[in-house]
Amino acid sequence: MTKSEKTALLGMSADELKEFLPSCPSYTAGQLFRFLNDGKRFEEMTSLKKELRAYLAERYVESPVRILRVFTGRSGAKKYLFGHLDGNLTEGVFMPHDYGNTLCLSTQIGCRMGCKFCASGLDGLLRNLSPSEMLGQVIASNANEGGVAKDRSVTNLVLMGSGEPLDNYDNVMSFLDLVTAKDGINISERNISLSTSGIAPKIRALADSGRKVTLSISLHAPFDDLRSELMPVNRAYPISEVVAAARYYFERTGRRVIFEYTLIKGKNDSDACARQLAKLTSGFPSHVNLIRLNEVKENGLSAPAVKATDEFLAKLTKYGVSATIRRSLGNDIEGACGQLRRRYAEENQ
Ligand code: SAH
Ligand code: SF4
Repeated sequence: MTKSEKTALLGMSADELKEFLPSCPSYTAGQLFRFLNDGKRFEEMTSLKKELRAYLAERYVESPVRILRVFTGRSGAKKYLFGHLDGNLTEGVFMPHDYGNTLCLSTQIGCRMGCKFCASGLDGLLRNLSPSEMLGQVIASNANEGGVAKDRSVTNLVLMGSGEPLDNYDNVMSFLDLVTAKDGINISERNISLSTSGIAPKIRALADSGRKVTLSISLHAPFDDLRSELMPVNRAYPISEVVAAARYYFERTGRRVIFEYTLIKGKNDSDACARQLAKLTSGFPSHVNLIRLNEVKENGLSAPAVKATDEFLAKLTKYGVSATIRRSLGNDIEGACGQLRRRYAEENQ
């Protein structure tokens, strides 16, 4: 992808935009702000003077993110490949539902947490995404789906693309402020899920921040030795600390915590695992999301049979756990978490 040195205007407030507009009436900044949040290109901002549009296009870009490719899956899910101004790539998944549409977006390029099962971490962390690069993914998706302003398409967000959101804490918090701003695209905090590998002190900071997003914790193993093998972050923040932070999150926010549990054949699908998982999650309102492993060719791990997944769910239910199996979205479009980006990068070397 070609690189651009230009500054992107998306993510700035109307006040900040005034600085970029030469001798314009002050309402122009407000108009520009709306257009940018509606995903319009400069040439489409027809209520701005033609000379002004040309002036802006020469010096700036609308958004730091644009969609390079769209892949449509059988379930109606779409996968976007996003290009960033420095030529880097991320990906997002758009999932239409009856109650609204969810966008799964990325918070970093790559990830440094090194989970064994995940494609995003294979090359480590390249860099953090800025708040406007996260907002840019939502705006680009909205524009692609034809939804703008009141009629916007994306109503729900999950921070489950590449990256560990709590490893990019300040930028993610600024992004949450932008995307929930009343004069912006105004997505409700209740419709936003943040998924973390379990950086316990940051979970507590998020709880104290007053933002009431849904917290998903990627647990994936109920015993420390196994979790450390699959998720090196567990050596810094073992299960007891992660579960204590989850409980704290519930106490501060009143929001039920979701535990993500990816089933990996022969690793974490035993009866002992189901029992221990039930113990860990029983002390406060929570829900377990079971996911069948999305196989990544580089790591040699395999998914259990569908029947074994159902049986694991039945065990959890028997042990009193509120649990469901999450349909693996977009499997036919290279799943989530870095698989598409890697393939595109390999093909276009
Ligand atoms: N870094 C954050 C959010 C991004 S990953 C986190 O780890 O929570 C989003 C979810 O996808 C996490 O629950 C993660 O564990 C899971 N995941 C990663 N690779 C996967 C794979 N190959 N199969 C199934 N789930 C996977
Ligand atoms: Fe990073 Fe999440 Fe992948 Fe782990 S699962 S490497 S934390 S993106």
